[in-house]
Amino acid sequence: MRHEEKHRSEHIGWLRASVLGANDGILSTSSIVVGVASASSDYQQVMLAGVAGLTAGAMSMAAGEYVSVSSQADTEAADRRREEEELRTTPEKELDELTDIYMRRGLDRPLARQVAEQLTAKDALTTHLRDELGITEELAARPLQAAWASAASFAVGAALPLLVALSTPTEWTTIAVAATTLVGLAALGGLSASVGGAPVVKAAVRVVFWGAVAMAVTSLIGWLFGVSIE
Ligand SMILES: [Zn+2]
Repeated sequence: MRHEEKHRSEHIGWLRASVLGANDGILSTSSIVVGVASASSDYQQVMLAGVAGLTAGAMSMAAGEYVSVSSQADTEAADRRREEEELRTTPEKELDELTDIYMRRGLDRPLARQVAEQLTAKDALTTHLRDELGITEELAARPLQAAWASAASFAVGAALPLLVALSTPTEWTTIAVAATTLVGLAALGGLSASVGGAPVVKAAVRVVFWGAVAMAVTSLIGWLFGVSIE
């Protein structure tokens, strides 16, 4: 039961990260496309800016995620070394510590002691990492995997407005990109809400509203800039 529960929340965490990455990819790239298209009717400039936005965004997601997950991994490694050291130098204290943890979780002292002793005999380090620090093999920080996953989901999201811009005539670029972006954002928002058990329509409306605001702002700025450099 406990295992199944944990597994599900892990799955949601992974899905949530991908949805957020795709969300960022769609919205920032379509904002760039709409902004540049408002300033210039040069199709090549619009596509160039969009592709640059995709690349820059994916790299920035990867770098940001790598740095943040790496520092988490460093913390976990330091915790692991500290536990190893403590288990070697003060094993009795560590056994008491584990007994206290199981008592706080609801076992009486003799049973907590027995559990602590048996788990220590089996694999003391894994037991301390898991029950004292909450570090498990499945939840361990993996910087490269996290970096790759967020860059890839960003790129997939960013591909949507670029494909739309590529396949519509220039005079329709702005409206077509804006419309498909709002539909894409609504679908992603609804998906992540339904997986997490949150109200679907509310989530979709919220993300569509902020998406529309973002594109309106960049298109206004693009238009002002386009007017001023002409
Ligand atoms: Zn410990």
